[in-house]
Amino acid sequence: MKPIIIIGSGMAGISVAREYRKLDSDTPIMIVTNDEGGFYAKPNLSNAFAQQKLAAQLKSQSASQLAEQLKLNVLQHTKLIAIDSERQSITTSIGSFEYHRLVLALGAEAIKLPIAGNAQDQILSINHLDDYAKFREQLGAVVDKNGKARIAILGAGLIGCEFADDLIGAGFEVHLIDPSPLPLAALLPEPISTQLQIALESQGVHMHLGTTAAHIDSINNRFQLQLQNGETIESDIVLSAIGLRPQTQIARQCAPQAIAVDRGIVVNRFGETSVKNIFALGDCAQYLLNHDGTSAVLPYIAPILTAARAIAKTLLGDPSEIEIQASPVIVKTPSCPIALIAPSVAERNSGNWSYELSPEQIHISRFHNSAGKLRGFAITPQDAKLRTALTKEIST
Ligand SMILES: Cc1cc2nc3c(=O)[nH]c(=O)nc-3n(C[C@H](O)[C@H](O)[C@H](O)COP(=O)(O)OP(=O)(O)OC[C@H]3O[C@@H](n4cnc5c(N)ncnc54)[C@H](O)[C@@H]3O)c2cc1C
Repeated sequence: MKPIIIIGSGMAGISVAREYRKLDSDTPIMIVTNDEGGFYAKPNLSNAFAQQKLAAQLKSQSASQLAEQLKLNVLQHTKLIAIDSERQSITTSIGSFEYHRLVLALGAEAIKLPIAGNAQDQILSINHLDDYAKFREQLGAVVDKNGKARIAILGAGLIGCEFADDLIGAGFEVHLIDPSPLPLAALLPEPISTQLQIALESQGVHMHLGTTAAHIDSINNRFQLQLQNGETIESDIVLSAIGLRPQTQIARQCAPQAIAVDRGIVVNRFGETSVKNIFALGDCAQYLLNHDGTSAVLPYIAPILTAARAIAKTLLGDPSEIEIQASPVIVKTPSCPIALIAPSVAERNSGNWSYELSPEQIHISRFHNSAGKLRGFAITPQDAKLRTALTKEIST
């Protein structure tokens, strides 16, 4: 019997395998992954420093433990190169394999902006456990005798802010650079962004907002960053956190018929791509959000778990819809813990944010759409009871 082949051993690939095995213990499953395989929770990467965790300590299951537990094969360090949907086969760096069903859980790649200067190749980003290991190794090589180093972070989005708070908590000097006037401006309304800015600055993070790095040079093992606003910063490490781009290239090149791709690999309500028997989920996928046909890339854990459950059933012949629920994102910035649900891109320009400071001193912003319905919120400090109540209101 030909196997179900899953490409990728991130949260998405492993979740589908786990969900499928709950339903069927016999069908062969093969995971093909470009990395070491095994399981780790990626969200831990951005708060691992303060907890003094090494990369190896973040991995909770090795590839062989996973293979044994789920009765499957893991092809480690094996790259998917091409898909032939007519023959139902894939070509990888170690050979070709036929599939019964194919699941693409390829994740996303860190966006690299072309920045002038000679340091482009030395700018780090952290989207995988290996990246985190490399970051720690390089940081270890540049810390002074007191264990201190200066780190410049490009991008004050979710990941940039979380790393800034984590690294300052671990005793490093941190410079956070972003073209927006406030941190996390793409997701948060102004009053909550302002709270985040105040909190990060009070921890000692140097904020360089409303500007970008125009030129980065590596000089005598240090970096010199020239910002658009004329400032110059020296740092020991430059970390880029400017965003992720879904991995879609292999889907576009699928033969004889390309898999439909928009921002991510487009899937229908069942997680199936435009090509029969090929499914996608996780950071590489673009999900249908509701019955009016809007869709979005949702690079978070909650949609992965929902999609994995539905796809597992569908793979087994019980077509099940992926019902994406409104789910709050918890921003892991301990100096300013935030919970939020961002309004959809479609509604963002046709509604309004309001703000209040509750008697319990919780900063609350609510987003109502043009019909007056609650469609988003942001609260800090994040309060479980309030977060649950607001999420419920959005979902009803
Ligand atoms: C620092 C950080 C903190 C985060 N914090 C949160 C949080 O608090 N809450 C939350 O909800 N989300 C968070 N996220 C997002 C969340 O972790 C991701 O949405 C999720 O882990 C993505 O899983 P994935 O399996 O889709 O992708 P990935 O984990 O990127 O896995 C992709 C897999 O595909 C493999 N692959 C890629 N190309 C090929 C190829 N050609 N051949 C073979 N294999 C290939 C890779 O090796 C990898 O195994 C965070 C993300 C980051 C980076």
